[in-house]
Amino acid sequence: MNFLEERIVKDGGVKEGNVLKVDRFLNHQMDIELFNEMGKEFYKRFEGKKINKILTIEASGIGIACIVAQYFHVPVVFAKKAKSINIEGESYVADVESFTHKVKNQVIVSKKVLSPEDRVLIIDDFLANGCALLGLISIIQSAGASVEGIGIAIEKGFQPGGTVIRNLGYQLESLAIVESMDEKTGEIVFREQ
Ligand code: 5GP
Repeated sequence: MNFLEERIVKDGGVKEGNVLKVDRFLNHQMDIELFNEMGKEFYKRFEGKKINKILTIEASGIGIACIVAQYFHVPVVFAKKAKSINIEGESYVADVESFTHKVKNQVIVSKKVLSPEDRVLIIDDFLANGCALLGLISIIQSAGASVEGIGIAIEKGFQPGGTVIRNLGYQLESLAIVESMDEKTGEIVFREQ
């Protein structure tokens, strides 16, 4: 098991509805030493790519993205959940269905912070069905920028997002891939990588 898998087993919890709770170290209380290890690992996996920007989505991707950015020495942009104001024209917009809250949000990125010369690394905390990533990819495409890679902390391998994204040809690197989890016993099994 790697450092993140060990931490998930130690401090994570399995909730009904295929939800993995990691709020003691990842998306509520945040363990910055752990984020640092993640940053180092992503830097290794995407070495050689000419990344000049990191894109994530509010809220729980932001903390991880900021620490990862210190390794790449690039700025972080986070897609904001829009409040249906008249933003088209000055922003790129995508529809994203939230896995945990089951609501559809529009997410937006201002045209001022994403442009055709950007070579983007996407970072997020979880990959489940892939809606969040597809939304971010569509925003990058609208800007005429390129996706250099995608770094995910925890992929739930029993949900379709990973396959969808890899089939589109992107370099997707997930630090932990959960193959199965059992809400009754709390058992979590990881994919060998
Ligand atoms: P997707 O769009 O891939 O279905 O879901 C990705 C988003 O849903 C992530 O940004 C994350 O915030 C949330 N998410 C998905 N699955 C889980 C989970 O098992 N636990 C937690 N805490 N968040 C999740």
